[in-house]
Amino acid sequence: MEVQSNQIVVEKSSTTKINEVDFNNLSFGSVYTDHMLVADYRNGSWTIPKIVPYQPLTLDPASKIFHYGQSIFEGMKAYKDANGHVWLFRPRDNHARMNISAQRMTMPQIPQEYFIEGLTALLELEKDWIPTQLGSSLYVRPFMFASGTGFHASPADEYKFLIALAPSGAYFSGKVKVLIEETYARAANGGVGYAKAGGNYAAQFYPTKLAADKGYQQVVWTDDHNHEYIEEAGAMNIFVRINDTLLTAPTSDRILDGITRKSILELAADMGVKTEVRKIKVSEVVEAAKNGNLKEMFGAGTAAVVSPISGFGYQGVDYDLPELENSYAQTIKTKITDIQYNRTEDKFGWRYKVV
Ligand SMILES: *Cc1c(COP(=O)(O)O)cnc(C)c1O
Repeated sequence: MEVQSNQIVVEKSSTTKINEVDFNNLSFGSVYTDHMLVADYRNGSWTIPKIVPYQPLTLDPASKIFHYGQSIFEGMKAYKDANGHVWLFRPRDNHARMNISAQRMTMPQIPQEYFIEGLTALLELEKDWIPTQLGSSLYVRPFMFASGTGFHASPADEYKFLIALAPSGAYFSGKVKVLIEETYARAANGGVGYAKAGGNYAAQFYPTKLAADKGYQQVVWTDDHNHEYIEEAGAMNIFVRINDTLLTAPTSDRILDGITRKSILELAADMGVKTEVRKIKVSEVVEAAKNGNLKEMFGAGTAAVVSPISGFGYQGVDYDLPELENSYAQTIKTKITDIQYNRTEDKFGWRYKVV
């Protein structure tokens, strides 16, 4: 199963779009590099990945992705340090999680060699696309979907695995105001909330739009049963600071096991910050907001690393969070990005050198 990068076939693009890109004004994930990686799964095994010019795909209208939604993805970033070296952050964890998602959606496992070697070869080829501007990085999007055909509601027999790259600026600009959800749920017990499956996001758009109509940028998801516990913030894990304790919900069927989340838990412990992984009641957060014990709330995920929340709405009442100097959110963000961009020692062994 060992795959050397020299086995990966590279078909180079004869042109480059890099000069058309304004690297000082990048949005998030809306321009793509010159090449992508593609591998096909058929007859029970994967073809060796190919790197080809970035291009549209041709699919049969009966491809099961269109009908039954077998589609999963990962989100990662590549960083360039001051010496031009390229780094990833815990990429084996993304690979492992992609296979957890694949299993839940009855899709094939992706060999680690294909994922890591394929990604490394692609990044080496596209390293000039990795922005060096502060806060910018190359967003990496591995994904897999059912290309096999049939209107029969059963798993497809063919799949495509791709990796596309998008030079990106910061995900959110500024703090976000969130609405604690009381009607909809993003995930249920026994469901697929722990998988990075495309349909999870499709289902989030409508409640998020309703919240946006009321002036909130994101929804804080609560449990599907009674909407009694907070679980995630949009497509990010959620942290709540009550006095000097940092809380986050335990992972479960309904909560995605975020790599940023678990890194923050380790880092906070290392900083001497008290952490608690436990169910967090909405009523506890509201109470803490009322009596001044609620110091911070933030989302945690690869795209934004840490996304501070300025306030939340619940049952028609808005609660503001204080403006803190030396917030945990800011301190943690700085520490994680310093590791990601190779600006500091990495005693956790999270950094992965590409080239
Ligand atoms: C991707 C994702 C996260 C964050 O995971 P990271 O590995 O930290 O990027 C959290 N929640 C949901 C729902 C996600 O899709």
